[in-house]
Amino acid sequence: MPFPESFLQELVERNEISDVVSGYVRLTKRSGANLFGLCPFHNEKTPSFSVSPEKQIYHCFGCGKGGGVINFIMEIENLSYPDAIRFLAQRAGIVVPEDDRDETASRRARMLKLLREAARFFYDELCAPSGEAGREYLARRGISGAMVKRFGLGFAPDSWDSLLKAMSTRGYSQAELSAAGLIKASQKGGGAYDTFRNRLMFPVIDVRGSVVAFSGRILGDGEPKYLNSPETLVFSKSRNLFGLNLAKKSKKGYIILVEGNIDVVALHQAGFESAVASLGTSLTPEQARLISNYTSDVIIAYDADDAGLKAAQRAISILDKLDVKVRVLRMSGAKDPDEYIQKFGAAAFDNLISRSENHIEYRLAAVTGKYELSTDEGRVSFLREAVDFIAALPNTVEREVYSLRVAELGGVSEETIKREVERLRKKKAAASKKQYERALSRPVRAAQPKQRAIRYKNERSAKAEEGVLALLYLNPELFLKTKLAGEEFSEPILGKLYDELLAQTLRGGRPQISLLAEKFSADEISLFTQLIERPLETGRSLQALQNYIDIIRSENLVRITGEQPESDESIARYWEQRKEQMISDDKGYGGRENG
Ligand SMILES: [Zn+2]
Repeated sequence: MPFPESFLQELVERNEISDVVSGYVRLTKRSGANLFGLCPFHNEKTPSFSVSPEKQIYHCFGCGKGGGVINFIMEIENLSYPDAIRFLAQRAGIVVPEDDRDETASRRARMLKLLREAARFFYDELCAPSGEAGREYLARRGISGAMVKRFGLGFAPDSWDSLLKAMSTRGYSQAELSAAGLIKASQKGGGAYDTFRNRLMFPVIDVRGSVVAFSGRILGDGEPKYLNSPETLVFSKSRNLFGLNLAKKSKKGYIILVEGNIDVVALHQAGFESAVASLGTSLTPEQARLISNYTSDVIIAYDADDAGLKAAQRAISILDKLDVKVRVLRMSGAKDPDEYIQKFGAAAFDNLISRSENHIEYRLAAVTGKYELSTDEGRVSFLREAVDFIAALPNTVEREVYSLRVAELGGVSEETIKREVERLRKKKAAASKKQYERALSRPVRAAQPKQRAIRYKNERSAKAEEGVLALLYLNPELFLKTKLAGEEFSEPILGKLYDELLAQTLRGGRPQISLLAEKFSADEISLFTQLIERPLETGRSLQALQNYIDIIRSENLVRITGEQPESDESIARYWEQRKEQMISDDKGYGGRENG
């Protein structure tokens, strides 16, 4: 294993797939979450090549090629696996560990030291006579000296090179300053200038307490409002949150997510020390996971404008996937939390939190806001969308409560709404049951893979094995207790994929396609990518998994014994024996080590 997994993880995270692919293919957004373009691997006139930023994969619906970022580079640049790794490492500006592990560690340590000293410099500048503009801004926002100290706020002077000069005299080279994102090379060549100028400086401190980056707020109007450090050896914007180093110590039990760093500071000052900001307009999945390490109760307090509303809805959909309770604050009479507290005080804000809506109400309010309820036409459209929304709620009590609410809003009887919701639910259930049964009853006639090199011998079992792989990718937690092993598969390649993805899962990560590039061929990865691009009924994952496993095991039994199984019982008996045998062979089950 030439490259450590943690390095590969970072490599993949720092080479966002749509970003990398855009270097070769012009991608446009068509519908849904995927981006589309003309396939670079086969000739075509209409785009069938798709990239999913969410799954971090590419897949061509025309020629069937697909995979993660590493094998994309292997294919398109015609590179070997290690060379593709080096190519991507260079692209992201990270050092390949085999090249020099110690050097990376010492570069990292020195960069952290530089950033700490830069923070000190900005802080001193804020206190110096030249920091007047910064102090004035803070006074206007009502931020106290205690908060300046707690957050280590600072000021970047209105000059091209004050930080550059100060850090140079302390022995840091231009290359080091540039690598830390503190200076930029000037276009005219030769020179360099400070990245942050005439801005209020917020050091971004990670959960271990190191300054890893800066976020600078413009003092007056202008764009960008917040300028963040670029991605560096020690900083990834999507994996840090401003204020989390302090919020994680809070005893509030919830975390308040706000848009601006200054809101975080203002909230802390008012006693809400669990506020964090996402260093940009939208919350990333990595940030959401980070938050969920510290709380299971998130309150979104974004700005009360259209952009804030959209950002809140995006954040809800990301947080919804994790096991966190999401509530949304709706502030009236103020544009953001800072202004709200200034106008109405901390007690009013606390009151707002205790009255905050769960995200269902919030979403329902968004649906309501879309229609003109005073007209018949508006009411009909509203009712149609609202019923659709309620029918999708998994909880019976919630459906009851919101049916009543919608009935009142739409001016119809509660019975009417309930009847419509039930009708819609039955329709959806029937459709998904049909689809599900069709999928299960069809395995014998399964199609062969597009990749010609791979031919299924037992299509019934292979279909179930494909299903298991898709489930494992989309729902890895189902597999923590599953005792299925790759060797039970009829197709060795599918079994090998299963073992590898399961090993990744058991090591505590999400299965990642990008990391398959070392051990699997382009065809094999393409096949797998195709599997997970198929729509899947996720509502009944557990039942589906059980069915798949039954098929795989009964087919395996036929293979081994050459007999048709008589009943489920004989299969179960057989597997009990096999299990004992395997345990006595000391091979273990499920939780096997890789290799
Ligand atoms: Zn293609």
